[in-house]
Amino acid sequence: MARALTDSVAVLSGVGPKTVAALATLDINTVNDLLFYFPFRYEDLQTRPLAELADQEKAVFKGKVVSNAVVSFFGPHKNRLSVRLLIDGVVVIVTFFNQAWLKDKFKLEEEVAIYGKWNEQRKSVVGMKIISQSTDNALDPIYSVNKQVRQKKLVELIQTAFKNYGALLGNVLPDDIRQHFRLLTDHDLVQQMHFPKTLTESNAARRTAIFREFFLFEAKIQQLRVNNSEAEDGLQLSYDLPALKEFIATLPFALTTAQKRVVNEICADLKSTRHMNRLLQGDVGSGKTIVAAIAMFAAVTAGYQAALMVPTEILAEQHYQKLVKLFAPMKVSVTLLTGSMKSKPRQNALMAIETGRANIIIGTHALIQDAITFHKLGFIVIDEQHRFGVNQRRALREKGLNPDILAMTATPIPRTLAITTYGEMDISTIDELPAGRRPIETSWLKINQASQALAITRNQMDHGDQAFVIAPLISESDSVNLKNAEDLAEQLADYFAPKYQVALLHGQMTAEEKAEKMAAFNRNDIQVLVATTVVEVGVDVPNANIMIIYNADRFGLATLHQLRGRVGRGDRQAYCFLIADPQNEVAVKRMEIMTETNDGFKLAEADLKLRGQGDIFGDKQSGLPDFQMGDPVSDNNILVAAHQVARELFLADPQLVQEQNQGLKNYLRQLQATETFD
Ligand code: ADP
Ligand code: MG
Repeated sequence: MARALTDSVAVLSGVGPKTVAALATLDINTVNDLLFYFPFRYEDLQTRPLAELADQEKAVFKGKVVSNAVVSFFGPHKNRLSVRLLIDGVVVIVTFFNQAWLKDKFKLEEEVAIYGKWNEQRKSVVGMKIISQSTDNALDPIYSVNKQVRQKKLVELIQTAFKNYGALLGNVLPDDIRQHFRLLTDHDLVQQMHFPKTLTESNAARRTAIFREFFLFEAKIQQLRVNNSEAEDGLQLSYDLPALKEFIATLPFALTTAQKRVVNEICADLKSTRHMNRLLQGDVGSGKTIVAAIAMFAAVTAGYQAALMVPTEILAEQHYQKLVKLFAPMKVSVTLLTGSMKSKPRQNALMAIETGRANIIIGTHALIQDAITFHKLGFIVIDEQHRFGVNQRRALREKGLNPDILAMTATPIPRTLAITTYGEMDISTIDELPAGRRPIETSWLKINQASQALAITRNQMDHGDQAFVIAPLISESDSVNLKNAEDLAEQLADYFAPKYQVALLHGQMTAEEKAEKMAAFNRNDIQVLVATTVVEVGVDVPNANIMIIYNADRFGLATLHQLRGRVGRGDRQAYCFLIADPQNEVAVKRMEIMTETNDGFKLAEADLKLRGQGDIFGDKQSGLPDFQMGDPVSDNNILVAAHQVARELFLADPQLVQEQNQGLKNYLRQLQATETFD
């Protein structure tokens, strides 16, 4: 059978089922995977003059064998091999421990190269390994491996694969792009990544590898875009424009320019037959909810149901209350569905959803349970979309008639990163806060200064404000010295008694308890709400103008910004106090940045710089893709270039029919066969 790069690694000699399974743990399944499994660094095996070496430095030594190798044993499994080499005119004693089998490799008068550690004083070397003279590569590639696959085995397999399949490496990058950016062909790329002769060569190869990786990622996105825009199977939601205008006129405030712009963008999508897949970005408090409400209302006037899925019951409840009020003048029926609902109201909700009596449905994950059948779901909004997994988002989509989708996020991402992460989505950004918002005044206090924050809080409460107080833990823990919400609530209850009421809210409470506490806080029956980060997401209490965060250094910038965003929604000046004795410089920086800006986009950028892309918004929540070679932050210019050329390529040749794009077309087709890209 003809060879192909898509062959399983099993076809390589020396690869049995065990090795196949082992390689799979590194995501290496095909010969192509193996060839493109690149080293992450190289050990420099270039020989250097002895005179240049520092004591205990590791290097490659090349010399002539001038004595017979002698092995002496000094313990049950211990031995030492000694041999003299003439290196740079100096006789050097080389010893290897417990590698007696190397003895035969040292033949009198012959040249040998070893890698080892130089001892300046004794003019001796502790040998670590012999370097094969057959390959004259000066750089030893180091791969990321695990217990199942060892370095040495991997190198052997890659050599075999390259020998047998190297000639098949075609060009995935179109020639003109490759030439324009002075990049290597796939063949040369693979050769120079695995077997570079010089560091310069490996650096050039790395540059190509990064570009190629970004380009292919962007090409996949562009292809999704093309497929999506050509699919005519999207819903056409012909909404009632006069009704929409009437609804907007009933709102208690005028929309900001940014809100109007994104409403127009969304409505254009609803109206078109193209399937809508749009991300709405906007900082906390920028007013995304009302935008979603207008869009959902549009869908309802077009005769469809609309659903809003949110990550927590508190939020679902809050949105429900708000939307019921908003829609009161419009004869729109709003239904709530959460996991903790009692059987009777739940049955009612299910009926309303199924019969179509419910126009707008608000809920948590409960919306995607099997038991739920929608009557005619045409539009879905996913709030805080990064809180949901791909499968949950898909499950909701499948409840509808290929519904249009609006995903919302308050976790801003710098523009260039938004391109890589959400490239297959259209992006709308609310980049303006409602008028009259005063920036929240943020200060950072040491733990022993916390009483200052409490004094200010009391004073503000005398003017009618309410306060959130956040602690990292629910209850006492002996392993860490952190504030816990239970103790804090007790202390503050004493402190603010008898005038003000303090209550506790945390994630281990039942949904009912939580809802009760939130409602009481909303009614101002409670003035101080001590909580864990359960209030992080979306909670909106206009009267709450103070946010105190204990052990603030324990939270990431994204979380701190979200927490701070819970206050400052009314007309009065809001304050945020970060109480922290940070233990390291990065944490100090985080506190400082928080006090300097209220702008989520600026914070996101600062966060990127501080933490690297891997954990910007906290592990799984970032939704950023994993790249093997490139780093979207430090290699950002390459990313942007790759994005641009991929976009231009698909604009000029959306179906990839041009000759020079055949390599790319094949690559994408094979990819489709082997992975599901979401
Ligand atoms: P987020 O984008 O964080 O979800 P919300 O939708 O919760 O923000 O809006 C924050 C607050 O601002 C709400 O109380 C909302 O009623 C109010 N709001 C929204 N849009 C406007 C506007 N154009 N003018 C004044 N207030 C607004
Ligand atoms: Mg919100």
